[in-house]
Parts: sequence; C-alpha cells; structure tokens
Amino acid sequence: MTKGNINVSVENIFPLIKKFLYSDHEIFLRELISNATDATLKLKHLTGIGEAKVEYGNPRIEVKIDKEQKTLRIIDQGIGMTAEEVEKYINQVAFSGAEEFLEKYKDSAKDSGIIGHFGLGFYSAFMVAEKVEIITKSYRDGTSAVRWICDGSPEFTLEETADKTDRGTEIILHIAEDSTEFLEESKIRELLLKYNKFMPVPIKFGTKTQTLPLPEDAAEDAKPETEEVDNIINNPNPAWTIAPSDLTSEDYMTFYHELYPMQFEEPLFHIHLNVDYPFNLTGILFFPKLANNLNIEKDKIQLYQNQVFVTDEVKGIVPDFLMLLRGVIDSPDIPLNVSRSYLQADGAVKKISSYITKKVADKMTSLINENREDYEQKWNDIKIVIEYGIVSEEKFAEKSDKFTLYPTVDGKYFLWNELVEKITPSHTDKDGNLIILYTSNADEQHSYIQSAQDKGYEVLLLDSHIISHVIQKLESSKEKVSFVRVDADHVNNLIKKDEPVISKLNDTEKESLKKNVEETIKDKKFTVQLEDLDSSDAPFTITQPEFLRRMKDMQATGGGGMFGMGGFPEMYNLVVNSNSEFADQVLKTENTEEKENLIKYALDLAKLSQNLLKGKDLTDFIQRSYQQLKK
Ligand code: ADP
Ligand code: MG
Repeated sequence: MTKGNINVSVENIFPLIKKFLYSDHEIFLRELISNATDATLKLKHLTGIGEAKVEYGNPRIEVKIDKEQKTLRIIDQGIGMTAEEVEKYINQVAFSGAEEFLEKYKDSAKDSGIIGHFGLGFYSAFMVAEKVEIITKSYRDGTSAVRWICDGSPEFTLEETADKTDRGTEIILHIAEDSTEFLEESKIRELLLKYNKFMPVPIKFGTKTQTLPLPEDAAEDAKPETEEVDNIINNPNPAWTIAPSDLTSEDYMTFYHELYPMQFEEPLFHIHLNVDYPFNLTGILFFPKLANNLNIEKDKIQLYQNQVFVTDEVKGIVPDFLMLLRGVIDSPDIPLNVSRSYLQADGAVKKISSYITKKVADKMTSLINENREDYEQKWNDIKIVIEYGIVSEEKFAEKSDKFTLYPTVDGKYFLWNELVEKITPSHTDKDGNLIILYTSNADEQHSYIQSAQDKGYEVLLLDSHIISHVIQKLESSKEKVSFVRVDADHVNNLIKKDEPVISKLNDTEKESLKKNVEETIKDKKFTVQLEDLDSSDAPFTITQPEFLRRMKDMQATGGGGMFGMGGFPEMYNLVVNSNSEFADQVLKTENTEEKENLIKYALDLAKLSQNLLKGKDLTDFIQRSYQQLKK
C-alpha cells in the first residue's frame, strides 16, 4: 500500500482561477476595492483600539485610469503590507488575511465590516491584467515600502522600493489586450456605480465641475464661478446602515431615489430590516405602487454584503412573493462568491427568508392598526403582494387575517373577522356553511350583483388575477366557508331563505315551459333549469358552475398542478324563472314561431348580460331588435 499527498501545483491551479473563479470578469474591480476598503477599515479598527499609533484622518480610495500606460490603479490609505505580509497574504493563494484578522480580533472586530473571506479575491485581477504590481507601505513605524510584480505565472518579484513614502497600498493593473474596455472611463464609472455605490470608504474617481454659490452682493447678471473638485462616487453612509430612529420619512425617499435614479414614482411605504441574531441582516424594503405595474424585471431588490453590491438576483433569499418589492438587503452572512443552488440550500439563507416574511407581516399589521383609512386606500396597490403571500407562504398566510382586507363592491373594507360577523347568519346555507358572494368584475357581472344586493347580500370585489388560488386557500384553511361568484350556478338556491317563494305555475305548466325552451334552444351547452324565483327576477339567467369556472381560472393563472389540464368543456345553466311574467307570456303564446322568437330573444338578452353574445349572433340580435322597434 502506498500513502501520500495529492500534489496540487500552482502551475495547474493558476489558469483555473483565472478562467473559472468568477464567471463575470468585471468583478475584479469590486474585489480590489473591497480589499482597499478592508485595509482602511482594519486601520480604523486598530487605531480605535489603540493598537496602531497613527492618525486615521479621512482616508479614501482612489481609482485612476492611464490610457497611455494601459494601467488601472487602485490606491488606498489603509494599513499597507510589509514584505513579510506580502509573502504571507499575497503569495499564498487561498489564504485570507481578512479571515485571519477577524479571528485575531474576534469580539472587537465582528462589527468592523470587513468584507474579505476566501483569500481569492486579489487574484481576480489576473482576469483582466497581464501584469499586476503592488506597491505598499505598512502603517508600522520603521518599515519600508515594497514592490511586488507578477505577470500571471507563478513567478513573482518582491523588492524594497523608495517610490512610496506614505502608508497604504497601490495596485497597478497592466490591462491585457483582450480587456481594454476596462480602460474606458465610462466602463469604470458604470462598475463603480454598480458595485461600490454604497461602500463605506469614500471612493474618488476623477474630478467634477462644481458651481460656487454667488456672493450676496453679486451683480444681477453675474455668472457663478465654478471649480474642479474631487468626484466622490459613493455614499459611504446609506440609509440602511443608519438607525431608523435617526431617519425621517424624507430620508427614506431620498434613499429610494438614490437606489433607483430612474424611478420617479414614490413608494407607498418602507420596512426597515435590522436583526443581529441568529444572523446579521440590515436593509430597507419599499412597497412600490403595483396596481397596474408588474414590471418587476428592472429595479429589483439588491443584495449587498457589508455594503458591497453582490447581485439583484435575490430568488431564494427573498421569498417569491416579495420579489415584487424594491430595496436592499445587506448581510455579511450571505457568501459573496457562491452559486445559486448553494444559496438556496443554505440554512442561514432560509432563516433570512423567513425573517423577512415575518417582518413584512408585522409591518402590515402595524400599518393597518396605525391608520386604517390610509391602509384601505393603499389596498389596491398592495393586495397582489399579500395575496401572493397567502397562496405561497404558509407562515405569512397564518398571520394574514390581521391585515388582509375584503373590499365590497360599494367601497367598504372588512377584515376577515369583521366580514364574518357582518354576514353571519344571514349568508348561511342549509348546512350552516357561510356563503361569501363575490364578483371578479363589477361591470361584467353587474346584473348579478344587483340581484344579490337587492336580496340584501354583501358582494365582495375580488378582482386580482390570482384570486381563484387565494379563495381555494381560504376555503381549505377556514372552516365551513364557501366563496361563490355572483354569477355562479347555485347562488339562487344557496342561501337559506326564511320564507320559500310560492310557485305560480303548476307542474304540468312547468313541464311544458321547460319543453318549449329546450326545443327552441337545442344547444347542448345549456342545461335548462326551472326555478321559482321572485317575479321581479330576470326571466332567463345564464350561470356557470362555480367549480368549472374556477378550474378554468386557475389553469389560466397556473399553479395548483393545473398545468396542461386543458380542454374544460363549455357548460352553462340556463335558469328559467317560472314565476316571471315572461314565463306566463311564453305559455300563453299559441303561435309556435312567435313563441320561439320570444325564447330566442330572452336567451340573447341573457347571453348579452354574461358577455356571451358575440360575432354573427350579436349582429343578428341587433338587427332583429331594430326590426322590433319598427313594428
Ligand atoms: P480576502 O480579501 O478574502 O482575505 P484577497 O485575495 O482578496 O482575500 O486578499 C488576500 C489578502 O491580501 C487580504 O486578506 C489582505 O491581507 C491582503 N491585501 C490585499 N489587498 C490589500 C490592500 N489593498 N491593503 C492591504 N492588504 C491587502
Ligand atoms: Mg478580498
């Protein structure tokens, strides 16, 4: 038997890092600025605890392009490195100085905001550079600056240099032929704004022209003077890093526009996230107006790690139903460089998702309790998120009765308990089930709504496109509750009536009326059904079985295992009101043609009110009606 160590030689691993470490080459800049930030924050920490006896001052990071030299430089005023430290931290691939620092200063440094983790970030520079130089001088007294040069092969040179006298590190990237886009000012600006816009150390990139205020005694036609000032790219203190008690609602709005400069509409409200146990997470979520705008592709929630932008693909971290929101989430516990599938399986990530769900539910509860009227006004814009949450997130559904509103067609809003109280026992069927009548479209189902209201029933307006799923969910989680759309088959018979309606026709008359209608219509889609309704109710009403319509709806909006279950038959009930005057009239008409015309006309009217009269049938109907007028 032979035992030994597998030999991983750097020659082999280096091209691998270069090629596969990061799918996105552009992140090299994020990595190098993260290192510069770490170096600065380390110095801040060490001066803070008295271990570094130097002036911390107002350090910043500078990014510079030199097109002629084909270099990109990142310069910081952080702790710098001695020759030994370069040997240790740079020459050892996958040894993280950041992790070592956090280990060493455990308790005191845990909130220092240090970003580095894996000890691989620095080498991402070789994805865009053919040669990298480091010129660095440690903050420690009596150390001299050193220069490290490496051309991407495992060989490097390291020597003392007199070129640098102040503390800090300068990274010089000699940009490779195939990466010259990173010498373009616009490209670098774009990357800085994408990844570094909220990083904690000021980042200077070029200069900008600033207009000076006019002196008070300036002449009326005086032109204001301008001056060149450093252009600081980032806001080192974004709102989510500040305590909510130190922020006004205006601050939140300002931050919203800072985050989404192209978004002009104000959000409805915000939720400030802040937790440090069992994981660290801060952030601010905004509820945009959603009613007519489901354009969630742009301006999505952004994920940060210690103020470094990571991604706006937050699927798996943020529960699906909250992907409609905007804002930021920042957590040092979300690993920077890992794959999506790993993220979704990660325990910390799962906890984050359920924490956010809970926070949103709590916020909704306090919003409705603080100002019910305002909440009702916003309901139409936020309902889709809440309904989606009820359908997809059990934990959210459990809490949702506290803040889910049920609007009626005439503009009242009920919480679940209020609704139940209001309609018990008047809306109960013979088995004691509570029947909740609703409409999905107040215009299209107008006649049905009217007739339900005439009988004294409340009709809810539930018009979201996923409402069938929500109803399904409510019916399975609540006891003895059925939702019935106003135009559904059984509405007339559903609700237990105090006094039964008396029948005007006898059984033979009914038989003959039914036969007349069936023979005239001949359409297999319609099941003719005679009912003793109020004489003032419509003579003919077309209804559709609740279950069938709901299946169709659910299939159309997906989910519930309904995909690919197409081909539901078209089925309608034709309810004939045997107590109507019209029924009398049909029976009394002797002439067969006249009788048939009466029935056809009434059917057309019923179809019309259910939006079923279309095409040629509609044209014919209109023509016949004009003929009628002439008579
Ligand atoms: P990580 O940041 O994950 O620790 P990196 O590969 O990005 O790994 O960097 C390796 C180490 O090199 C850092 O931990 C740090 O000790 C050192 N280093 C890199 N850049 C700088 C810098 N600008 N100033 C001081 N030290 C640096
Ligand atoms: Mg790093």
